[in-house]
Amino acid sequence: MLISDLRQRLRALGALPKHEQRVLRDWVQAKPHDSGRRRPEHFLPLALREALPAIDAELAALARVVSEHPGEDGSARLLVGLSDGQMVESVLLPRDGLCVSSQVGCAVGCTFCMTGREGLIRQVTSAEIVAQVVLARRLRPVKKVVFMGMGEPAHNLENVMEAIALLGIEGGIGHKNLVLSTVGDPRVFERLHGPDVGPVKPALALSLHTSKAELRKELLPRAPRLSPEDIVEAGERYARFSGYPIQYQWTLIEGVNDGPEELDGIVRLLKGKRGLLNMIPYNQIPDLDYRRPSWERARSIAAELHSRGVLTKLRDSAGQDVDGGCGQLRARSSATPQP
Ligand code: SF4
Repeated sequence: MLISDLRQRLRALGALPKHEQRVLRDWVQAKPHDSGRRRPEHFLPLALREALPAIDAELAALARVVSEHPGEDGSARLLVGLSDGQMVESVLLPRDGLCVSSQVGCAVGCTFCMTGREGLIRQVTSAEIVAQVVLARRLRPVKKVVFMGMGEPAHNLENVMEAIALLGIEGGIGHKNLVLSTVGDPRVFERLHGPDVGPVKPALALSLHTSKAELRKELLPRAPRLSPEDIVEAGERYARFSGYPIQYQWTLIEGVNDGPEELDGIVRLLKGKRGLLNMIPYNQIPDLDYRRPSWERARSIAAELHSRGVLTKLRDSAGQDVDGGCGQLRARSSATPQP
């Protein structure tokens, strides 16, 4: 289901914009119908009122929690089943955040990522993206949504932008708390700067991972061939346009991108820029040779970058104590029959 299809269906049932907004708002804000803020049914057109139970049932069937895996840091990984039996992961983050998946699988094929190993299986629809937020809101408040789960949002941009518009308007999430993440795809920059950006300007996270163009080709084999310099330049343009700082993502891998040349490269690229570097020590995946650096080493790298003028935050990948990086829960469950 697409959100645009749902809107059309509501209109065909006689919904005026205010009715449409109310129905969508109730859904995305996960308001229980029997709460004191119950939908005032008698104000809705009769045909819409009669169709609502079936529509509610369809929305509820879009996504379900297959399993929940709480971490020690206050996060929890959710394995989410979609209506056709496919599965994605969402992560409840500390401080009311949620990380959602935009694709089942991913075509970028990053060599260090479990999701990238299986290629793209299918797109996650705009309604399924929002359904992940609704599921999470039944468990705890959600005030920030980051598109950093399974998939490359740039490869499913229509659905992602449609979900962002709904979350930012009817969903009540601050626009700068909607974070669109990309490996650096020109389509994202064109869309965000163009007339089709829609009513909500999201914040932007750009995955750098290395300052070396050649290494980037190896680590992100099917990412667009933008150099790290091109990516940062595009990020700066968007930061000026939106007024939000850019989040640059760096998965820190021992012996791959944690050496002195990379630190010099980061300073060259990011010093003085409107952005911050999120440095995330790699979550080891059993079948891959990449290694996670020690926390002490990661901390000293972050401190050095900070002292050299790059705003750097060292973050742990949420819930890494429960099942490693993005895609591992799904991979494990695909190998295990689900009830
Ligand atoms: Fe895709 Fe992100 Fe994994 Fe790369 S790291 S393969 S972009 S899901």
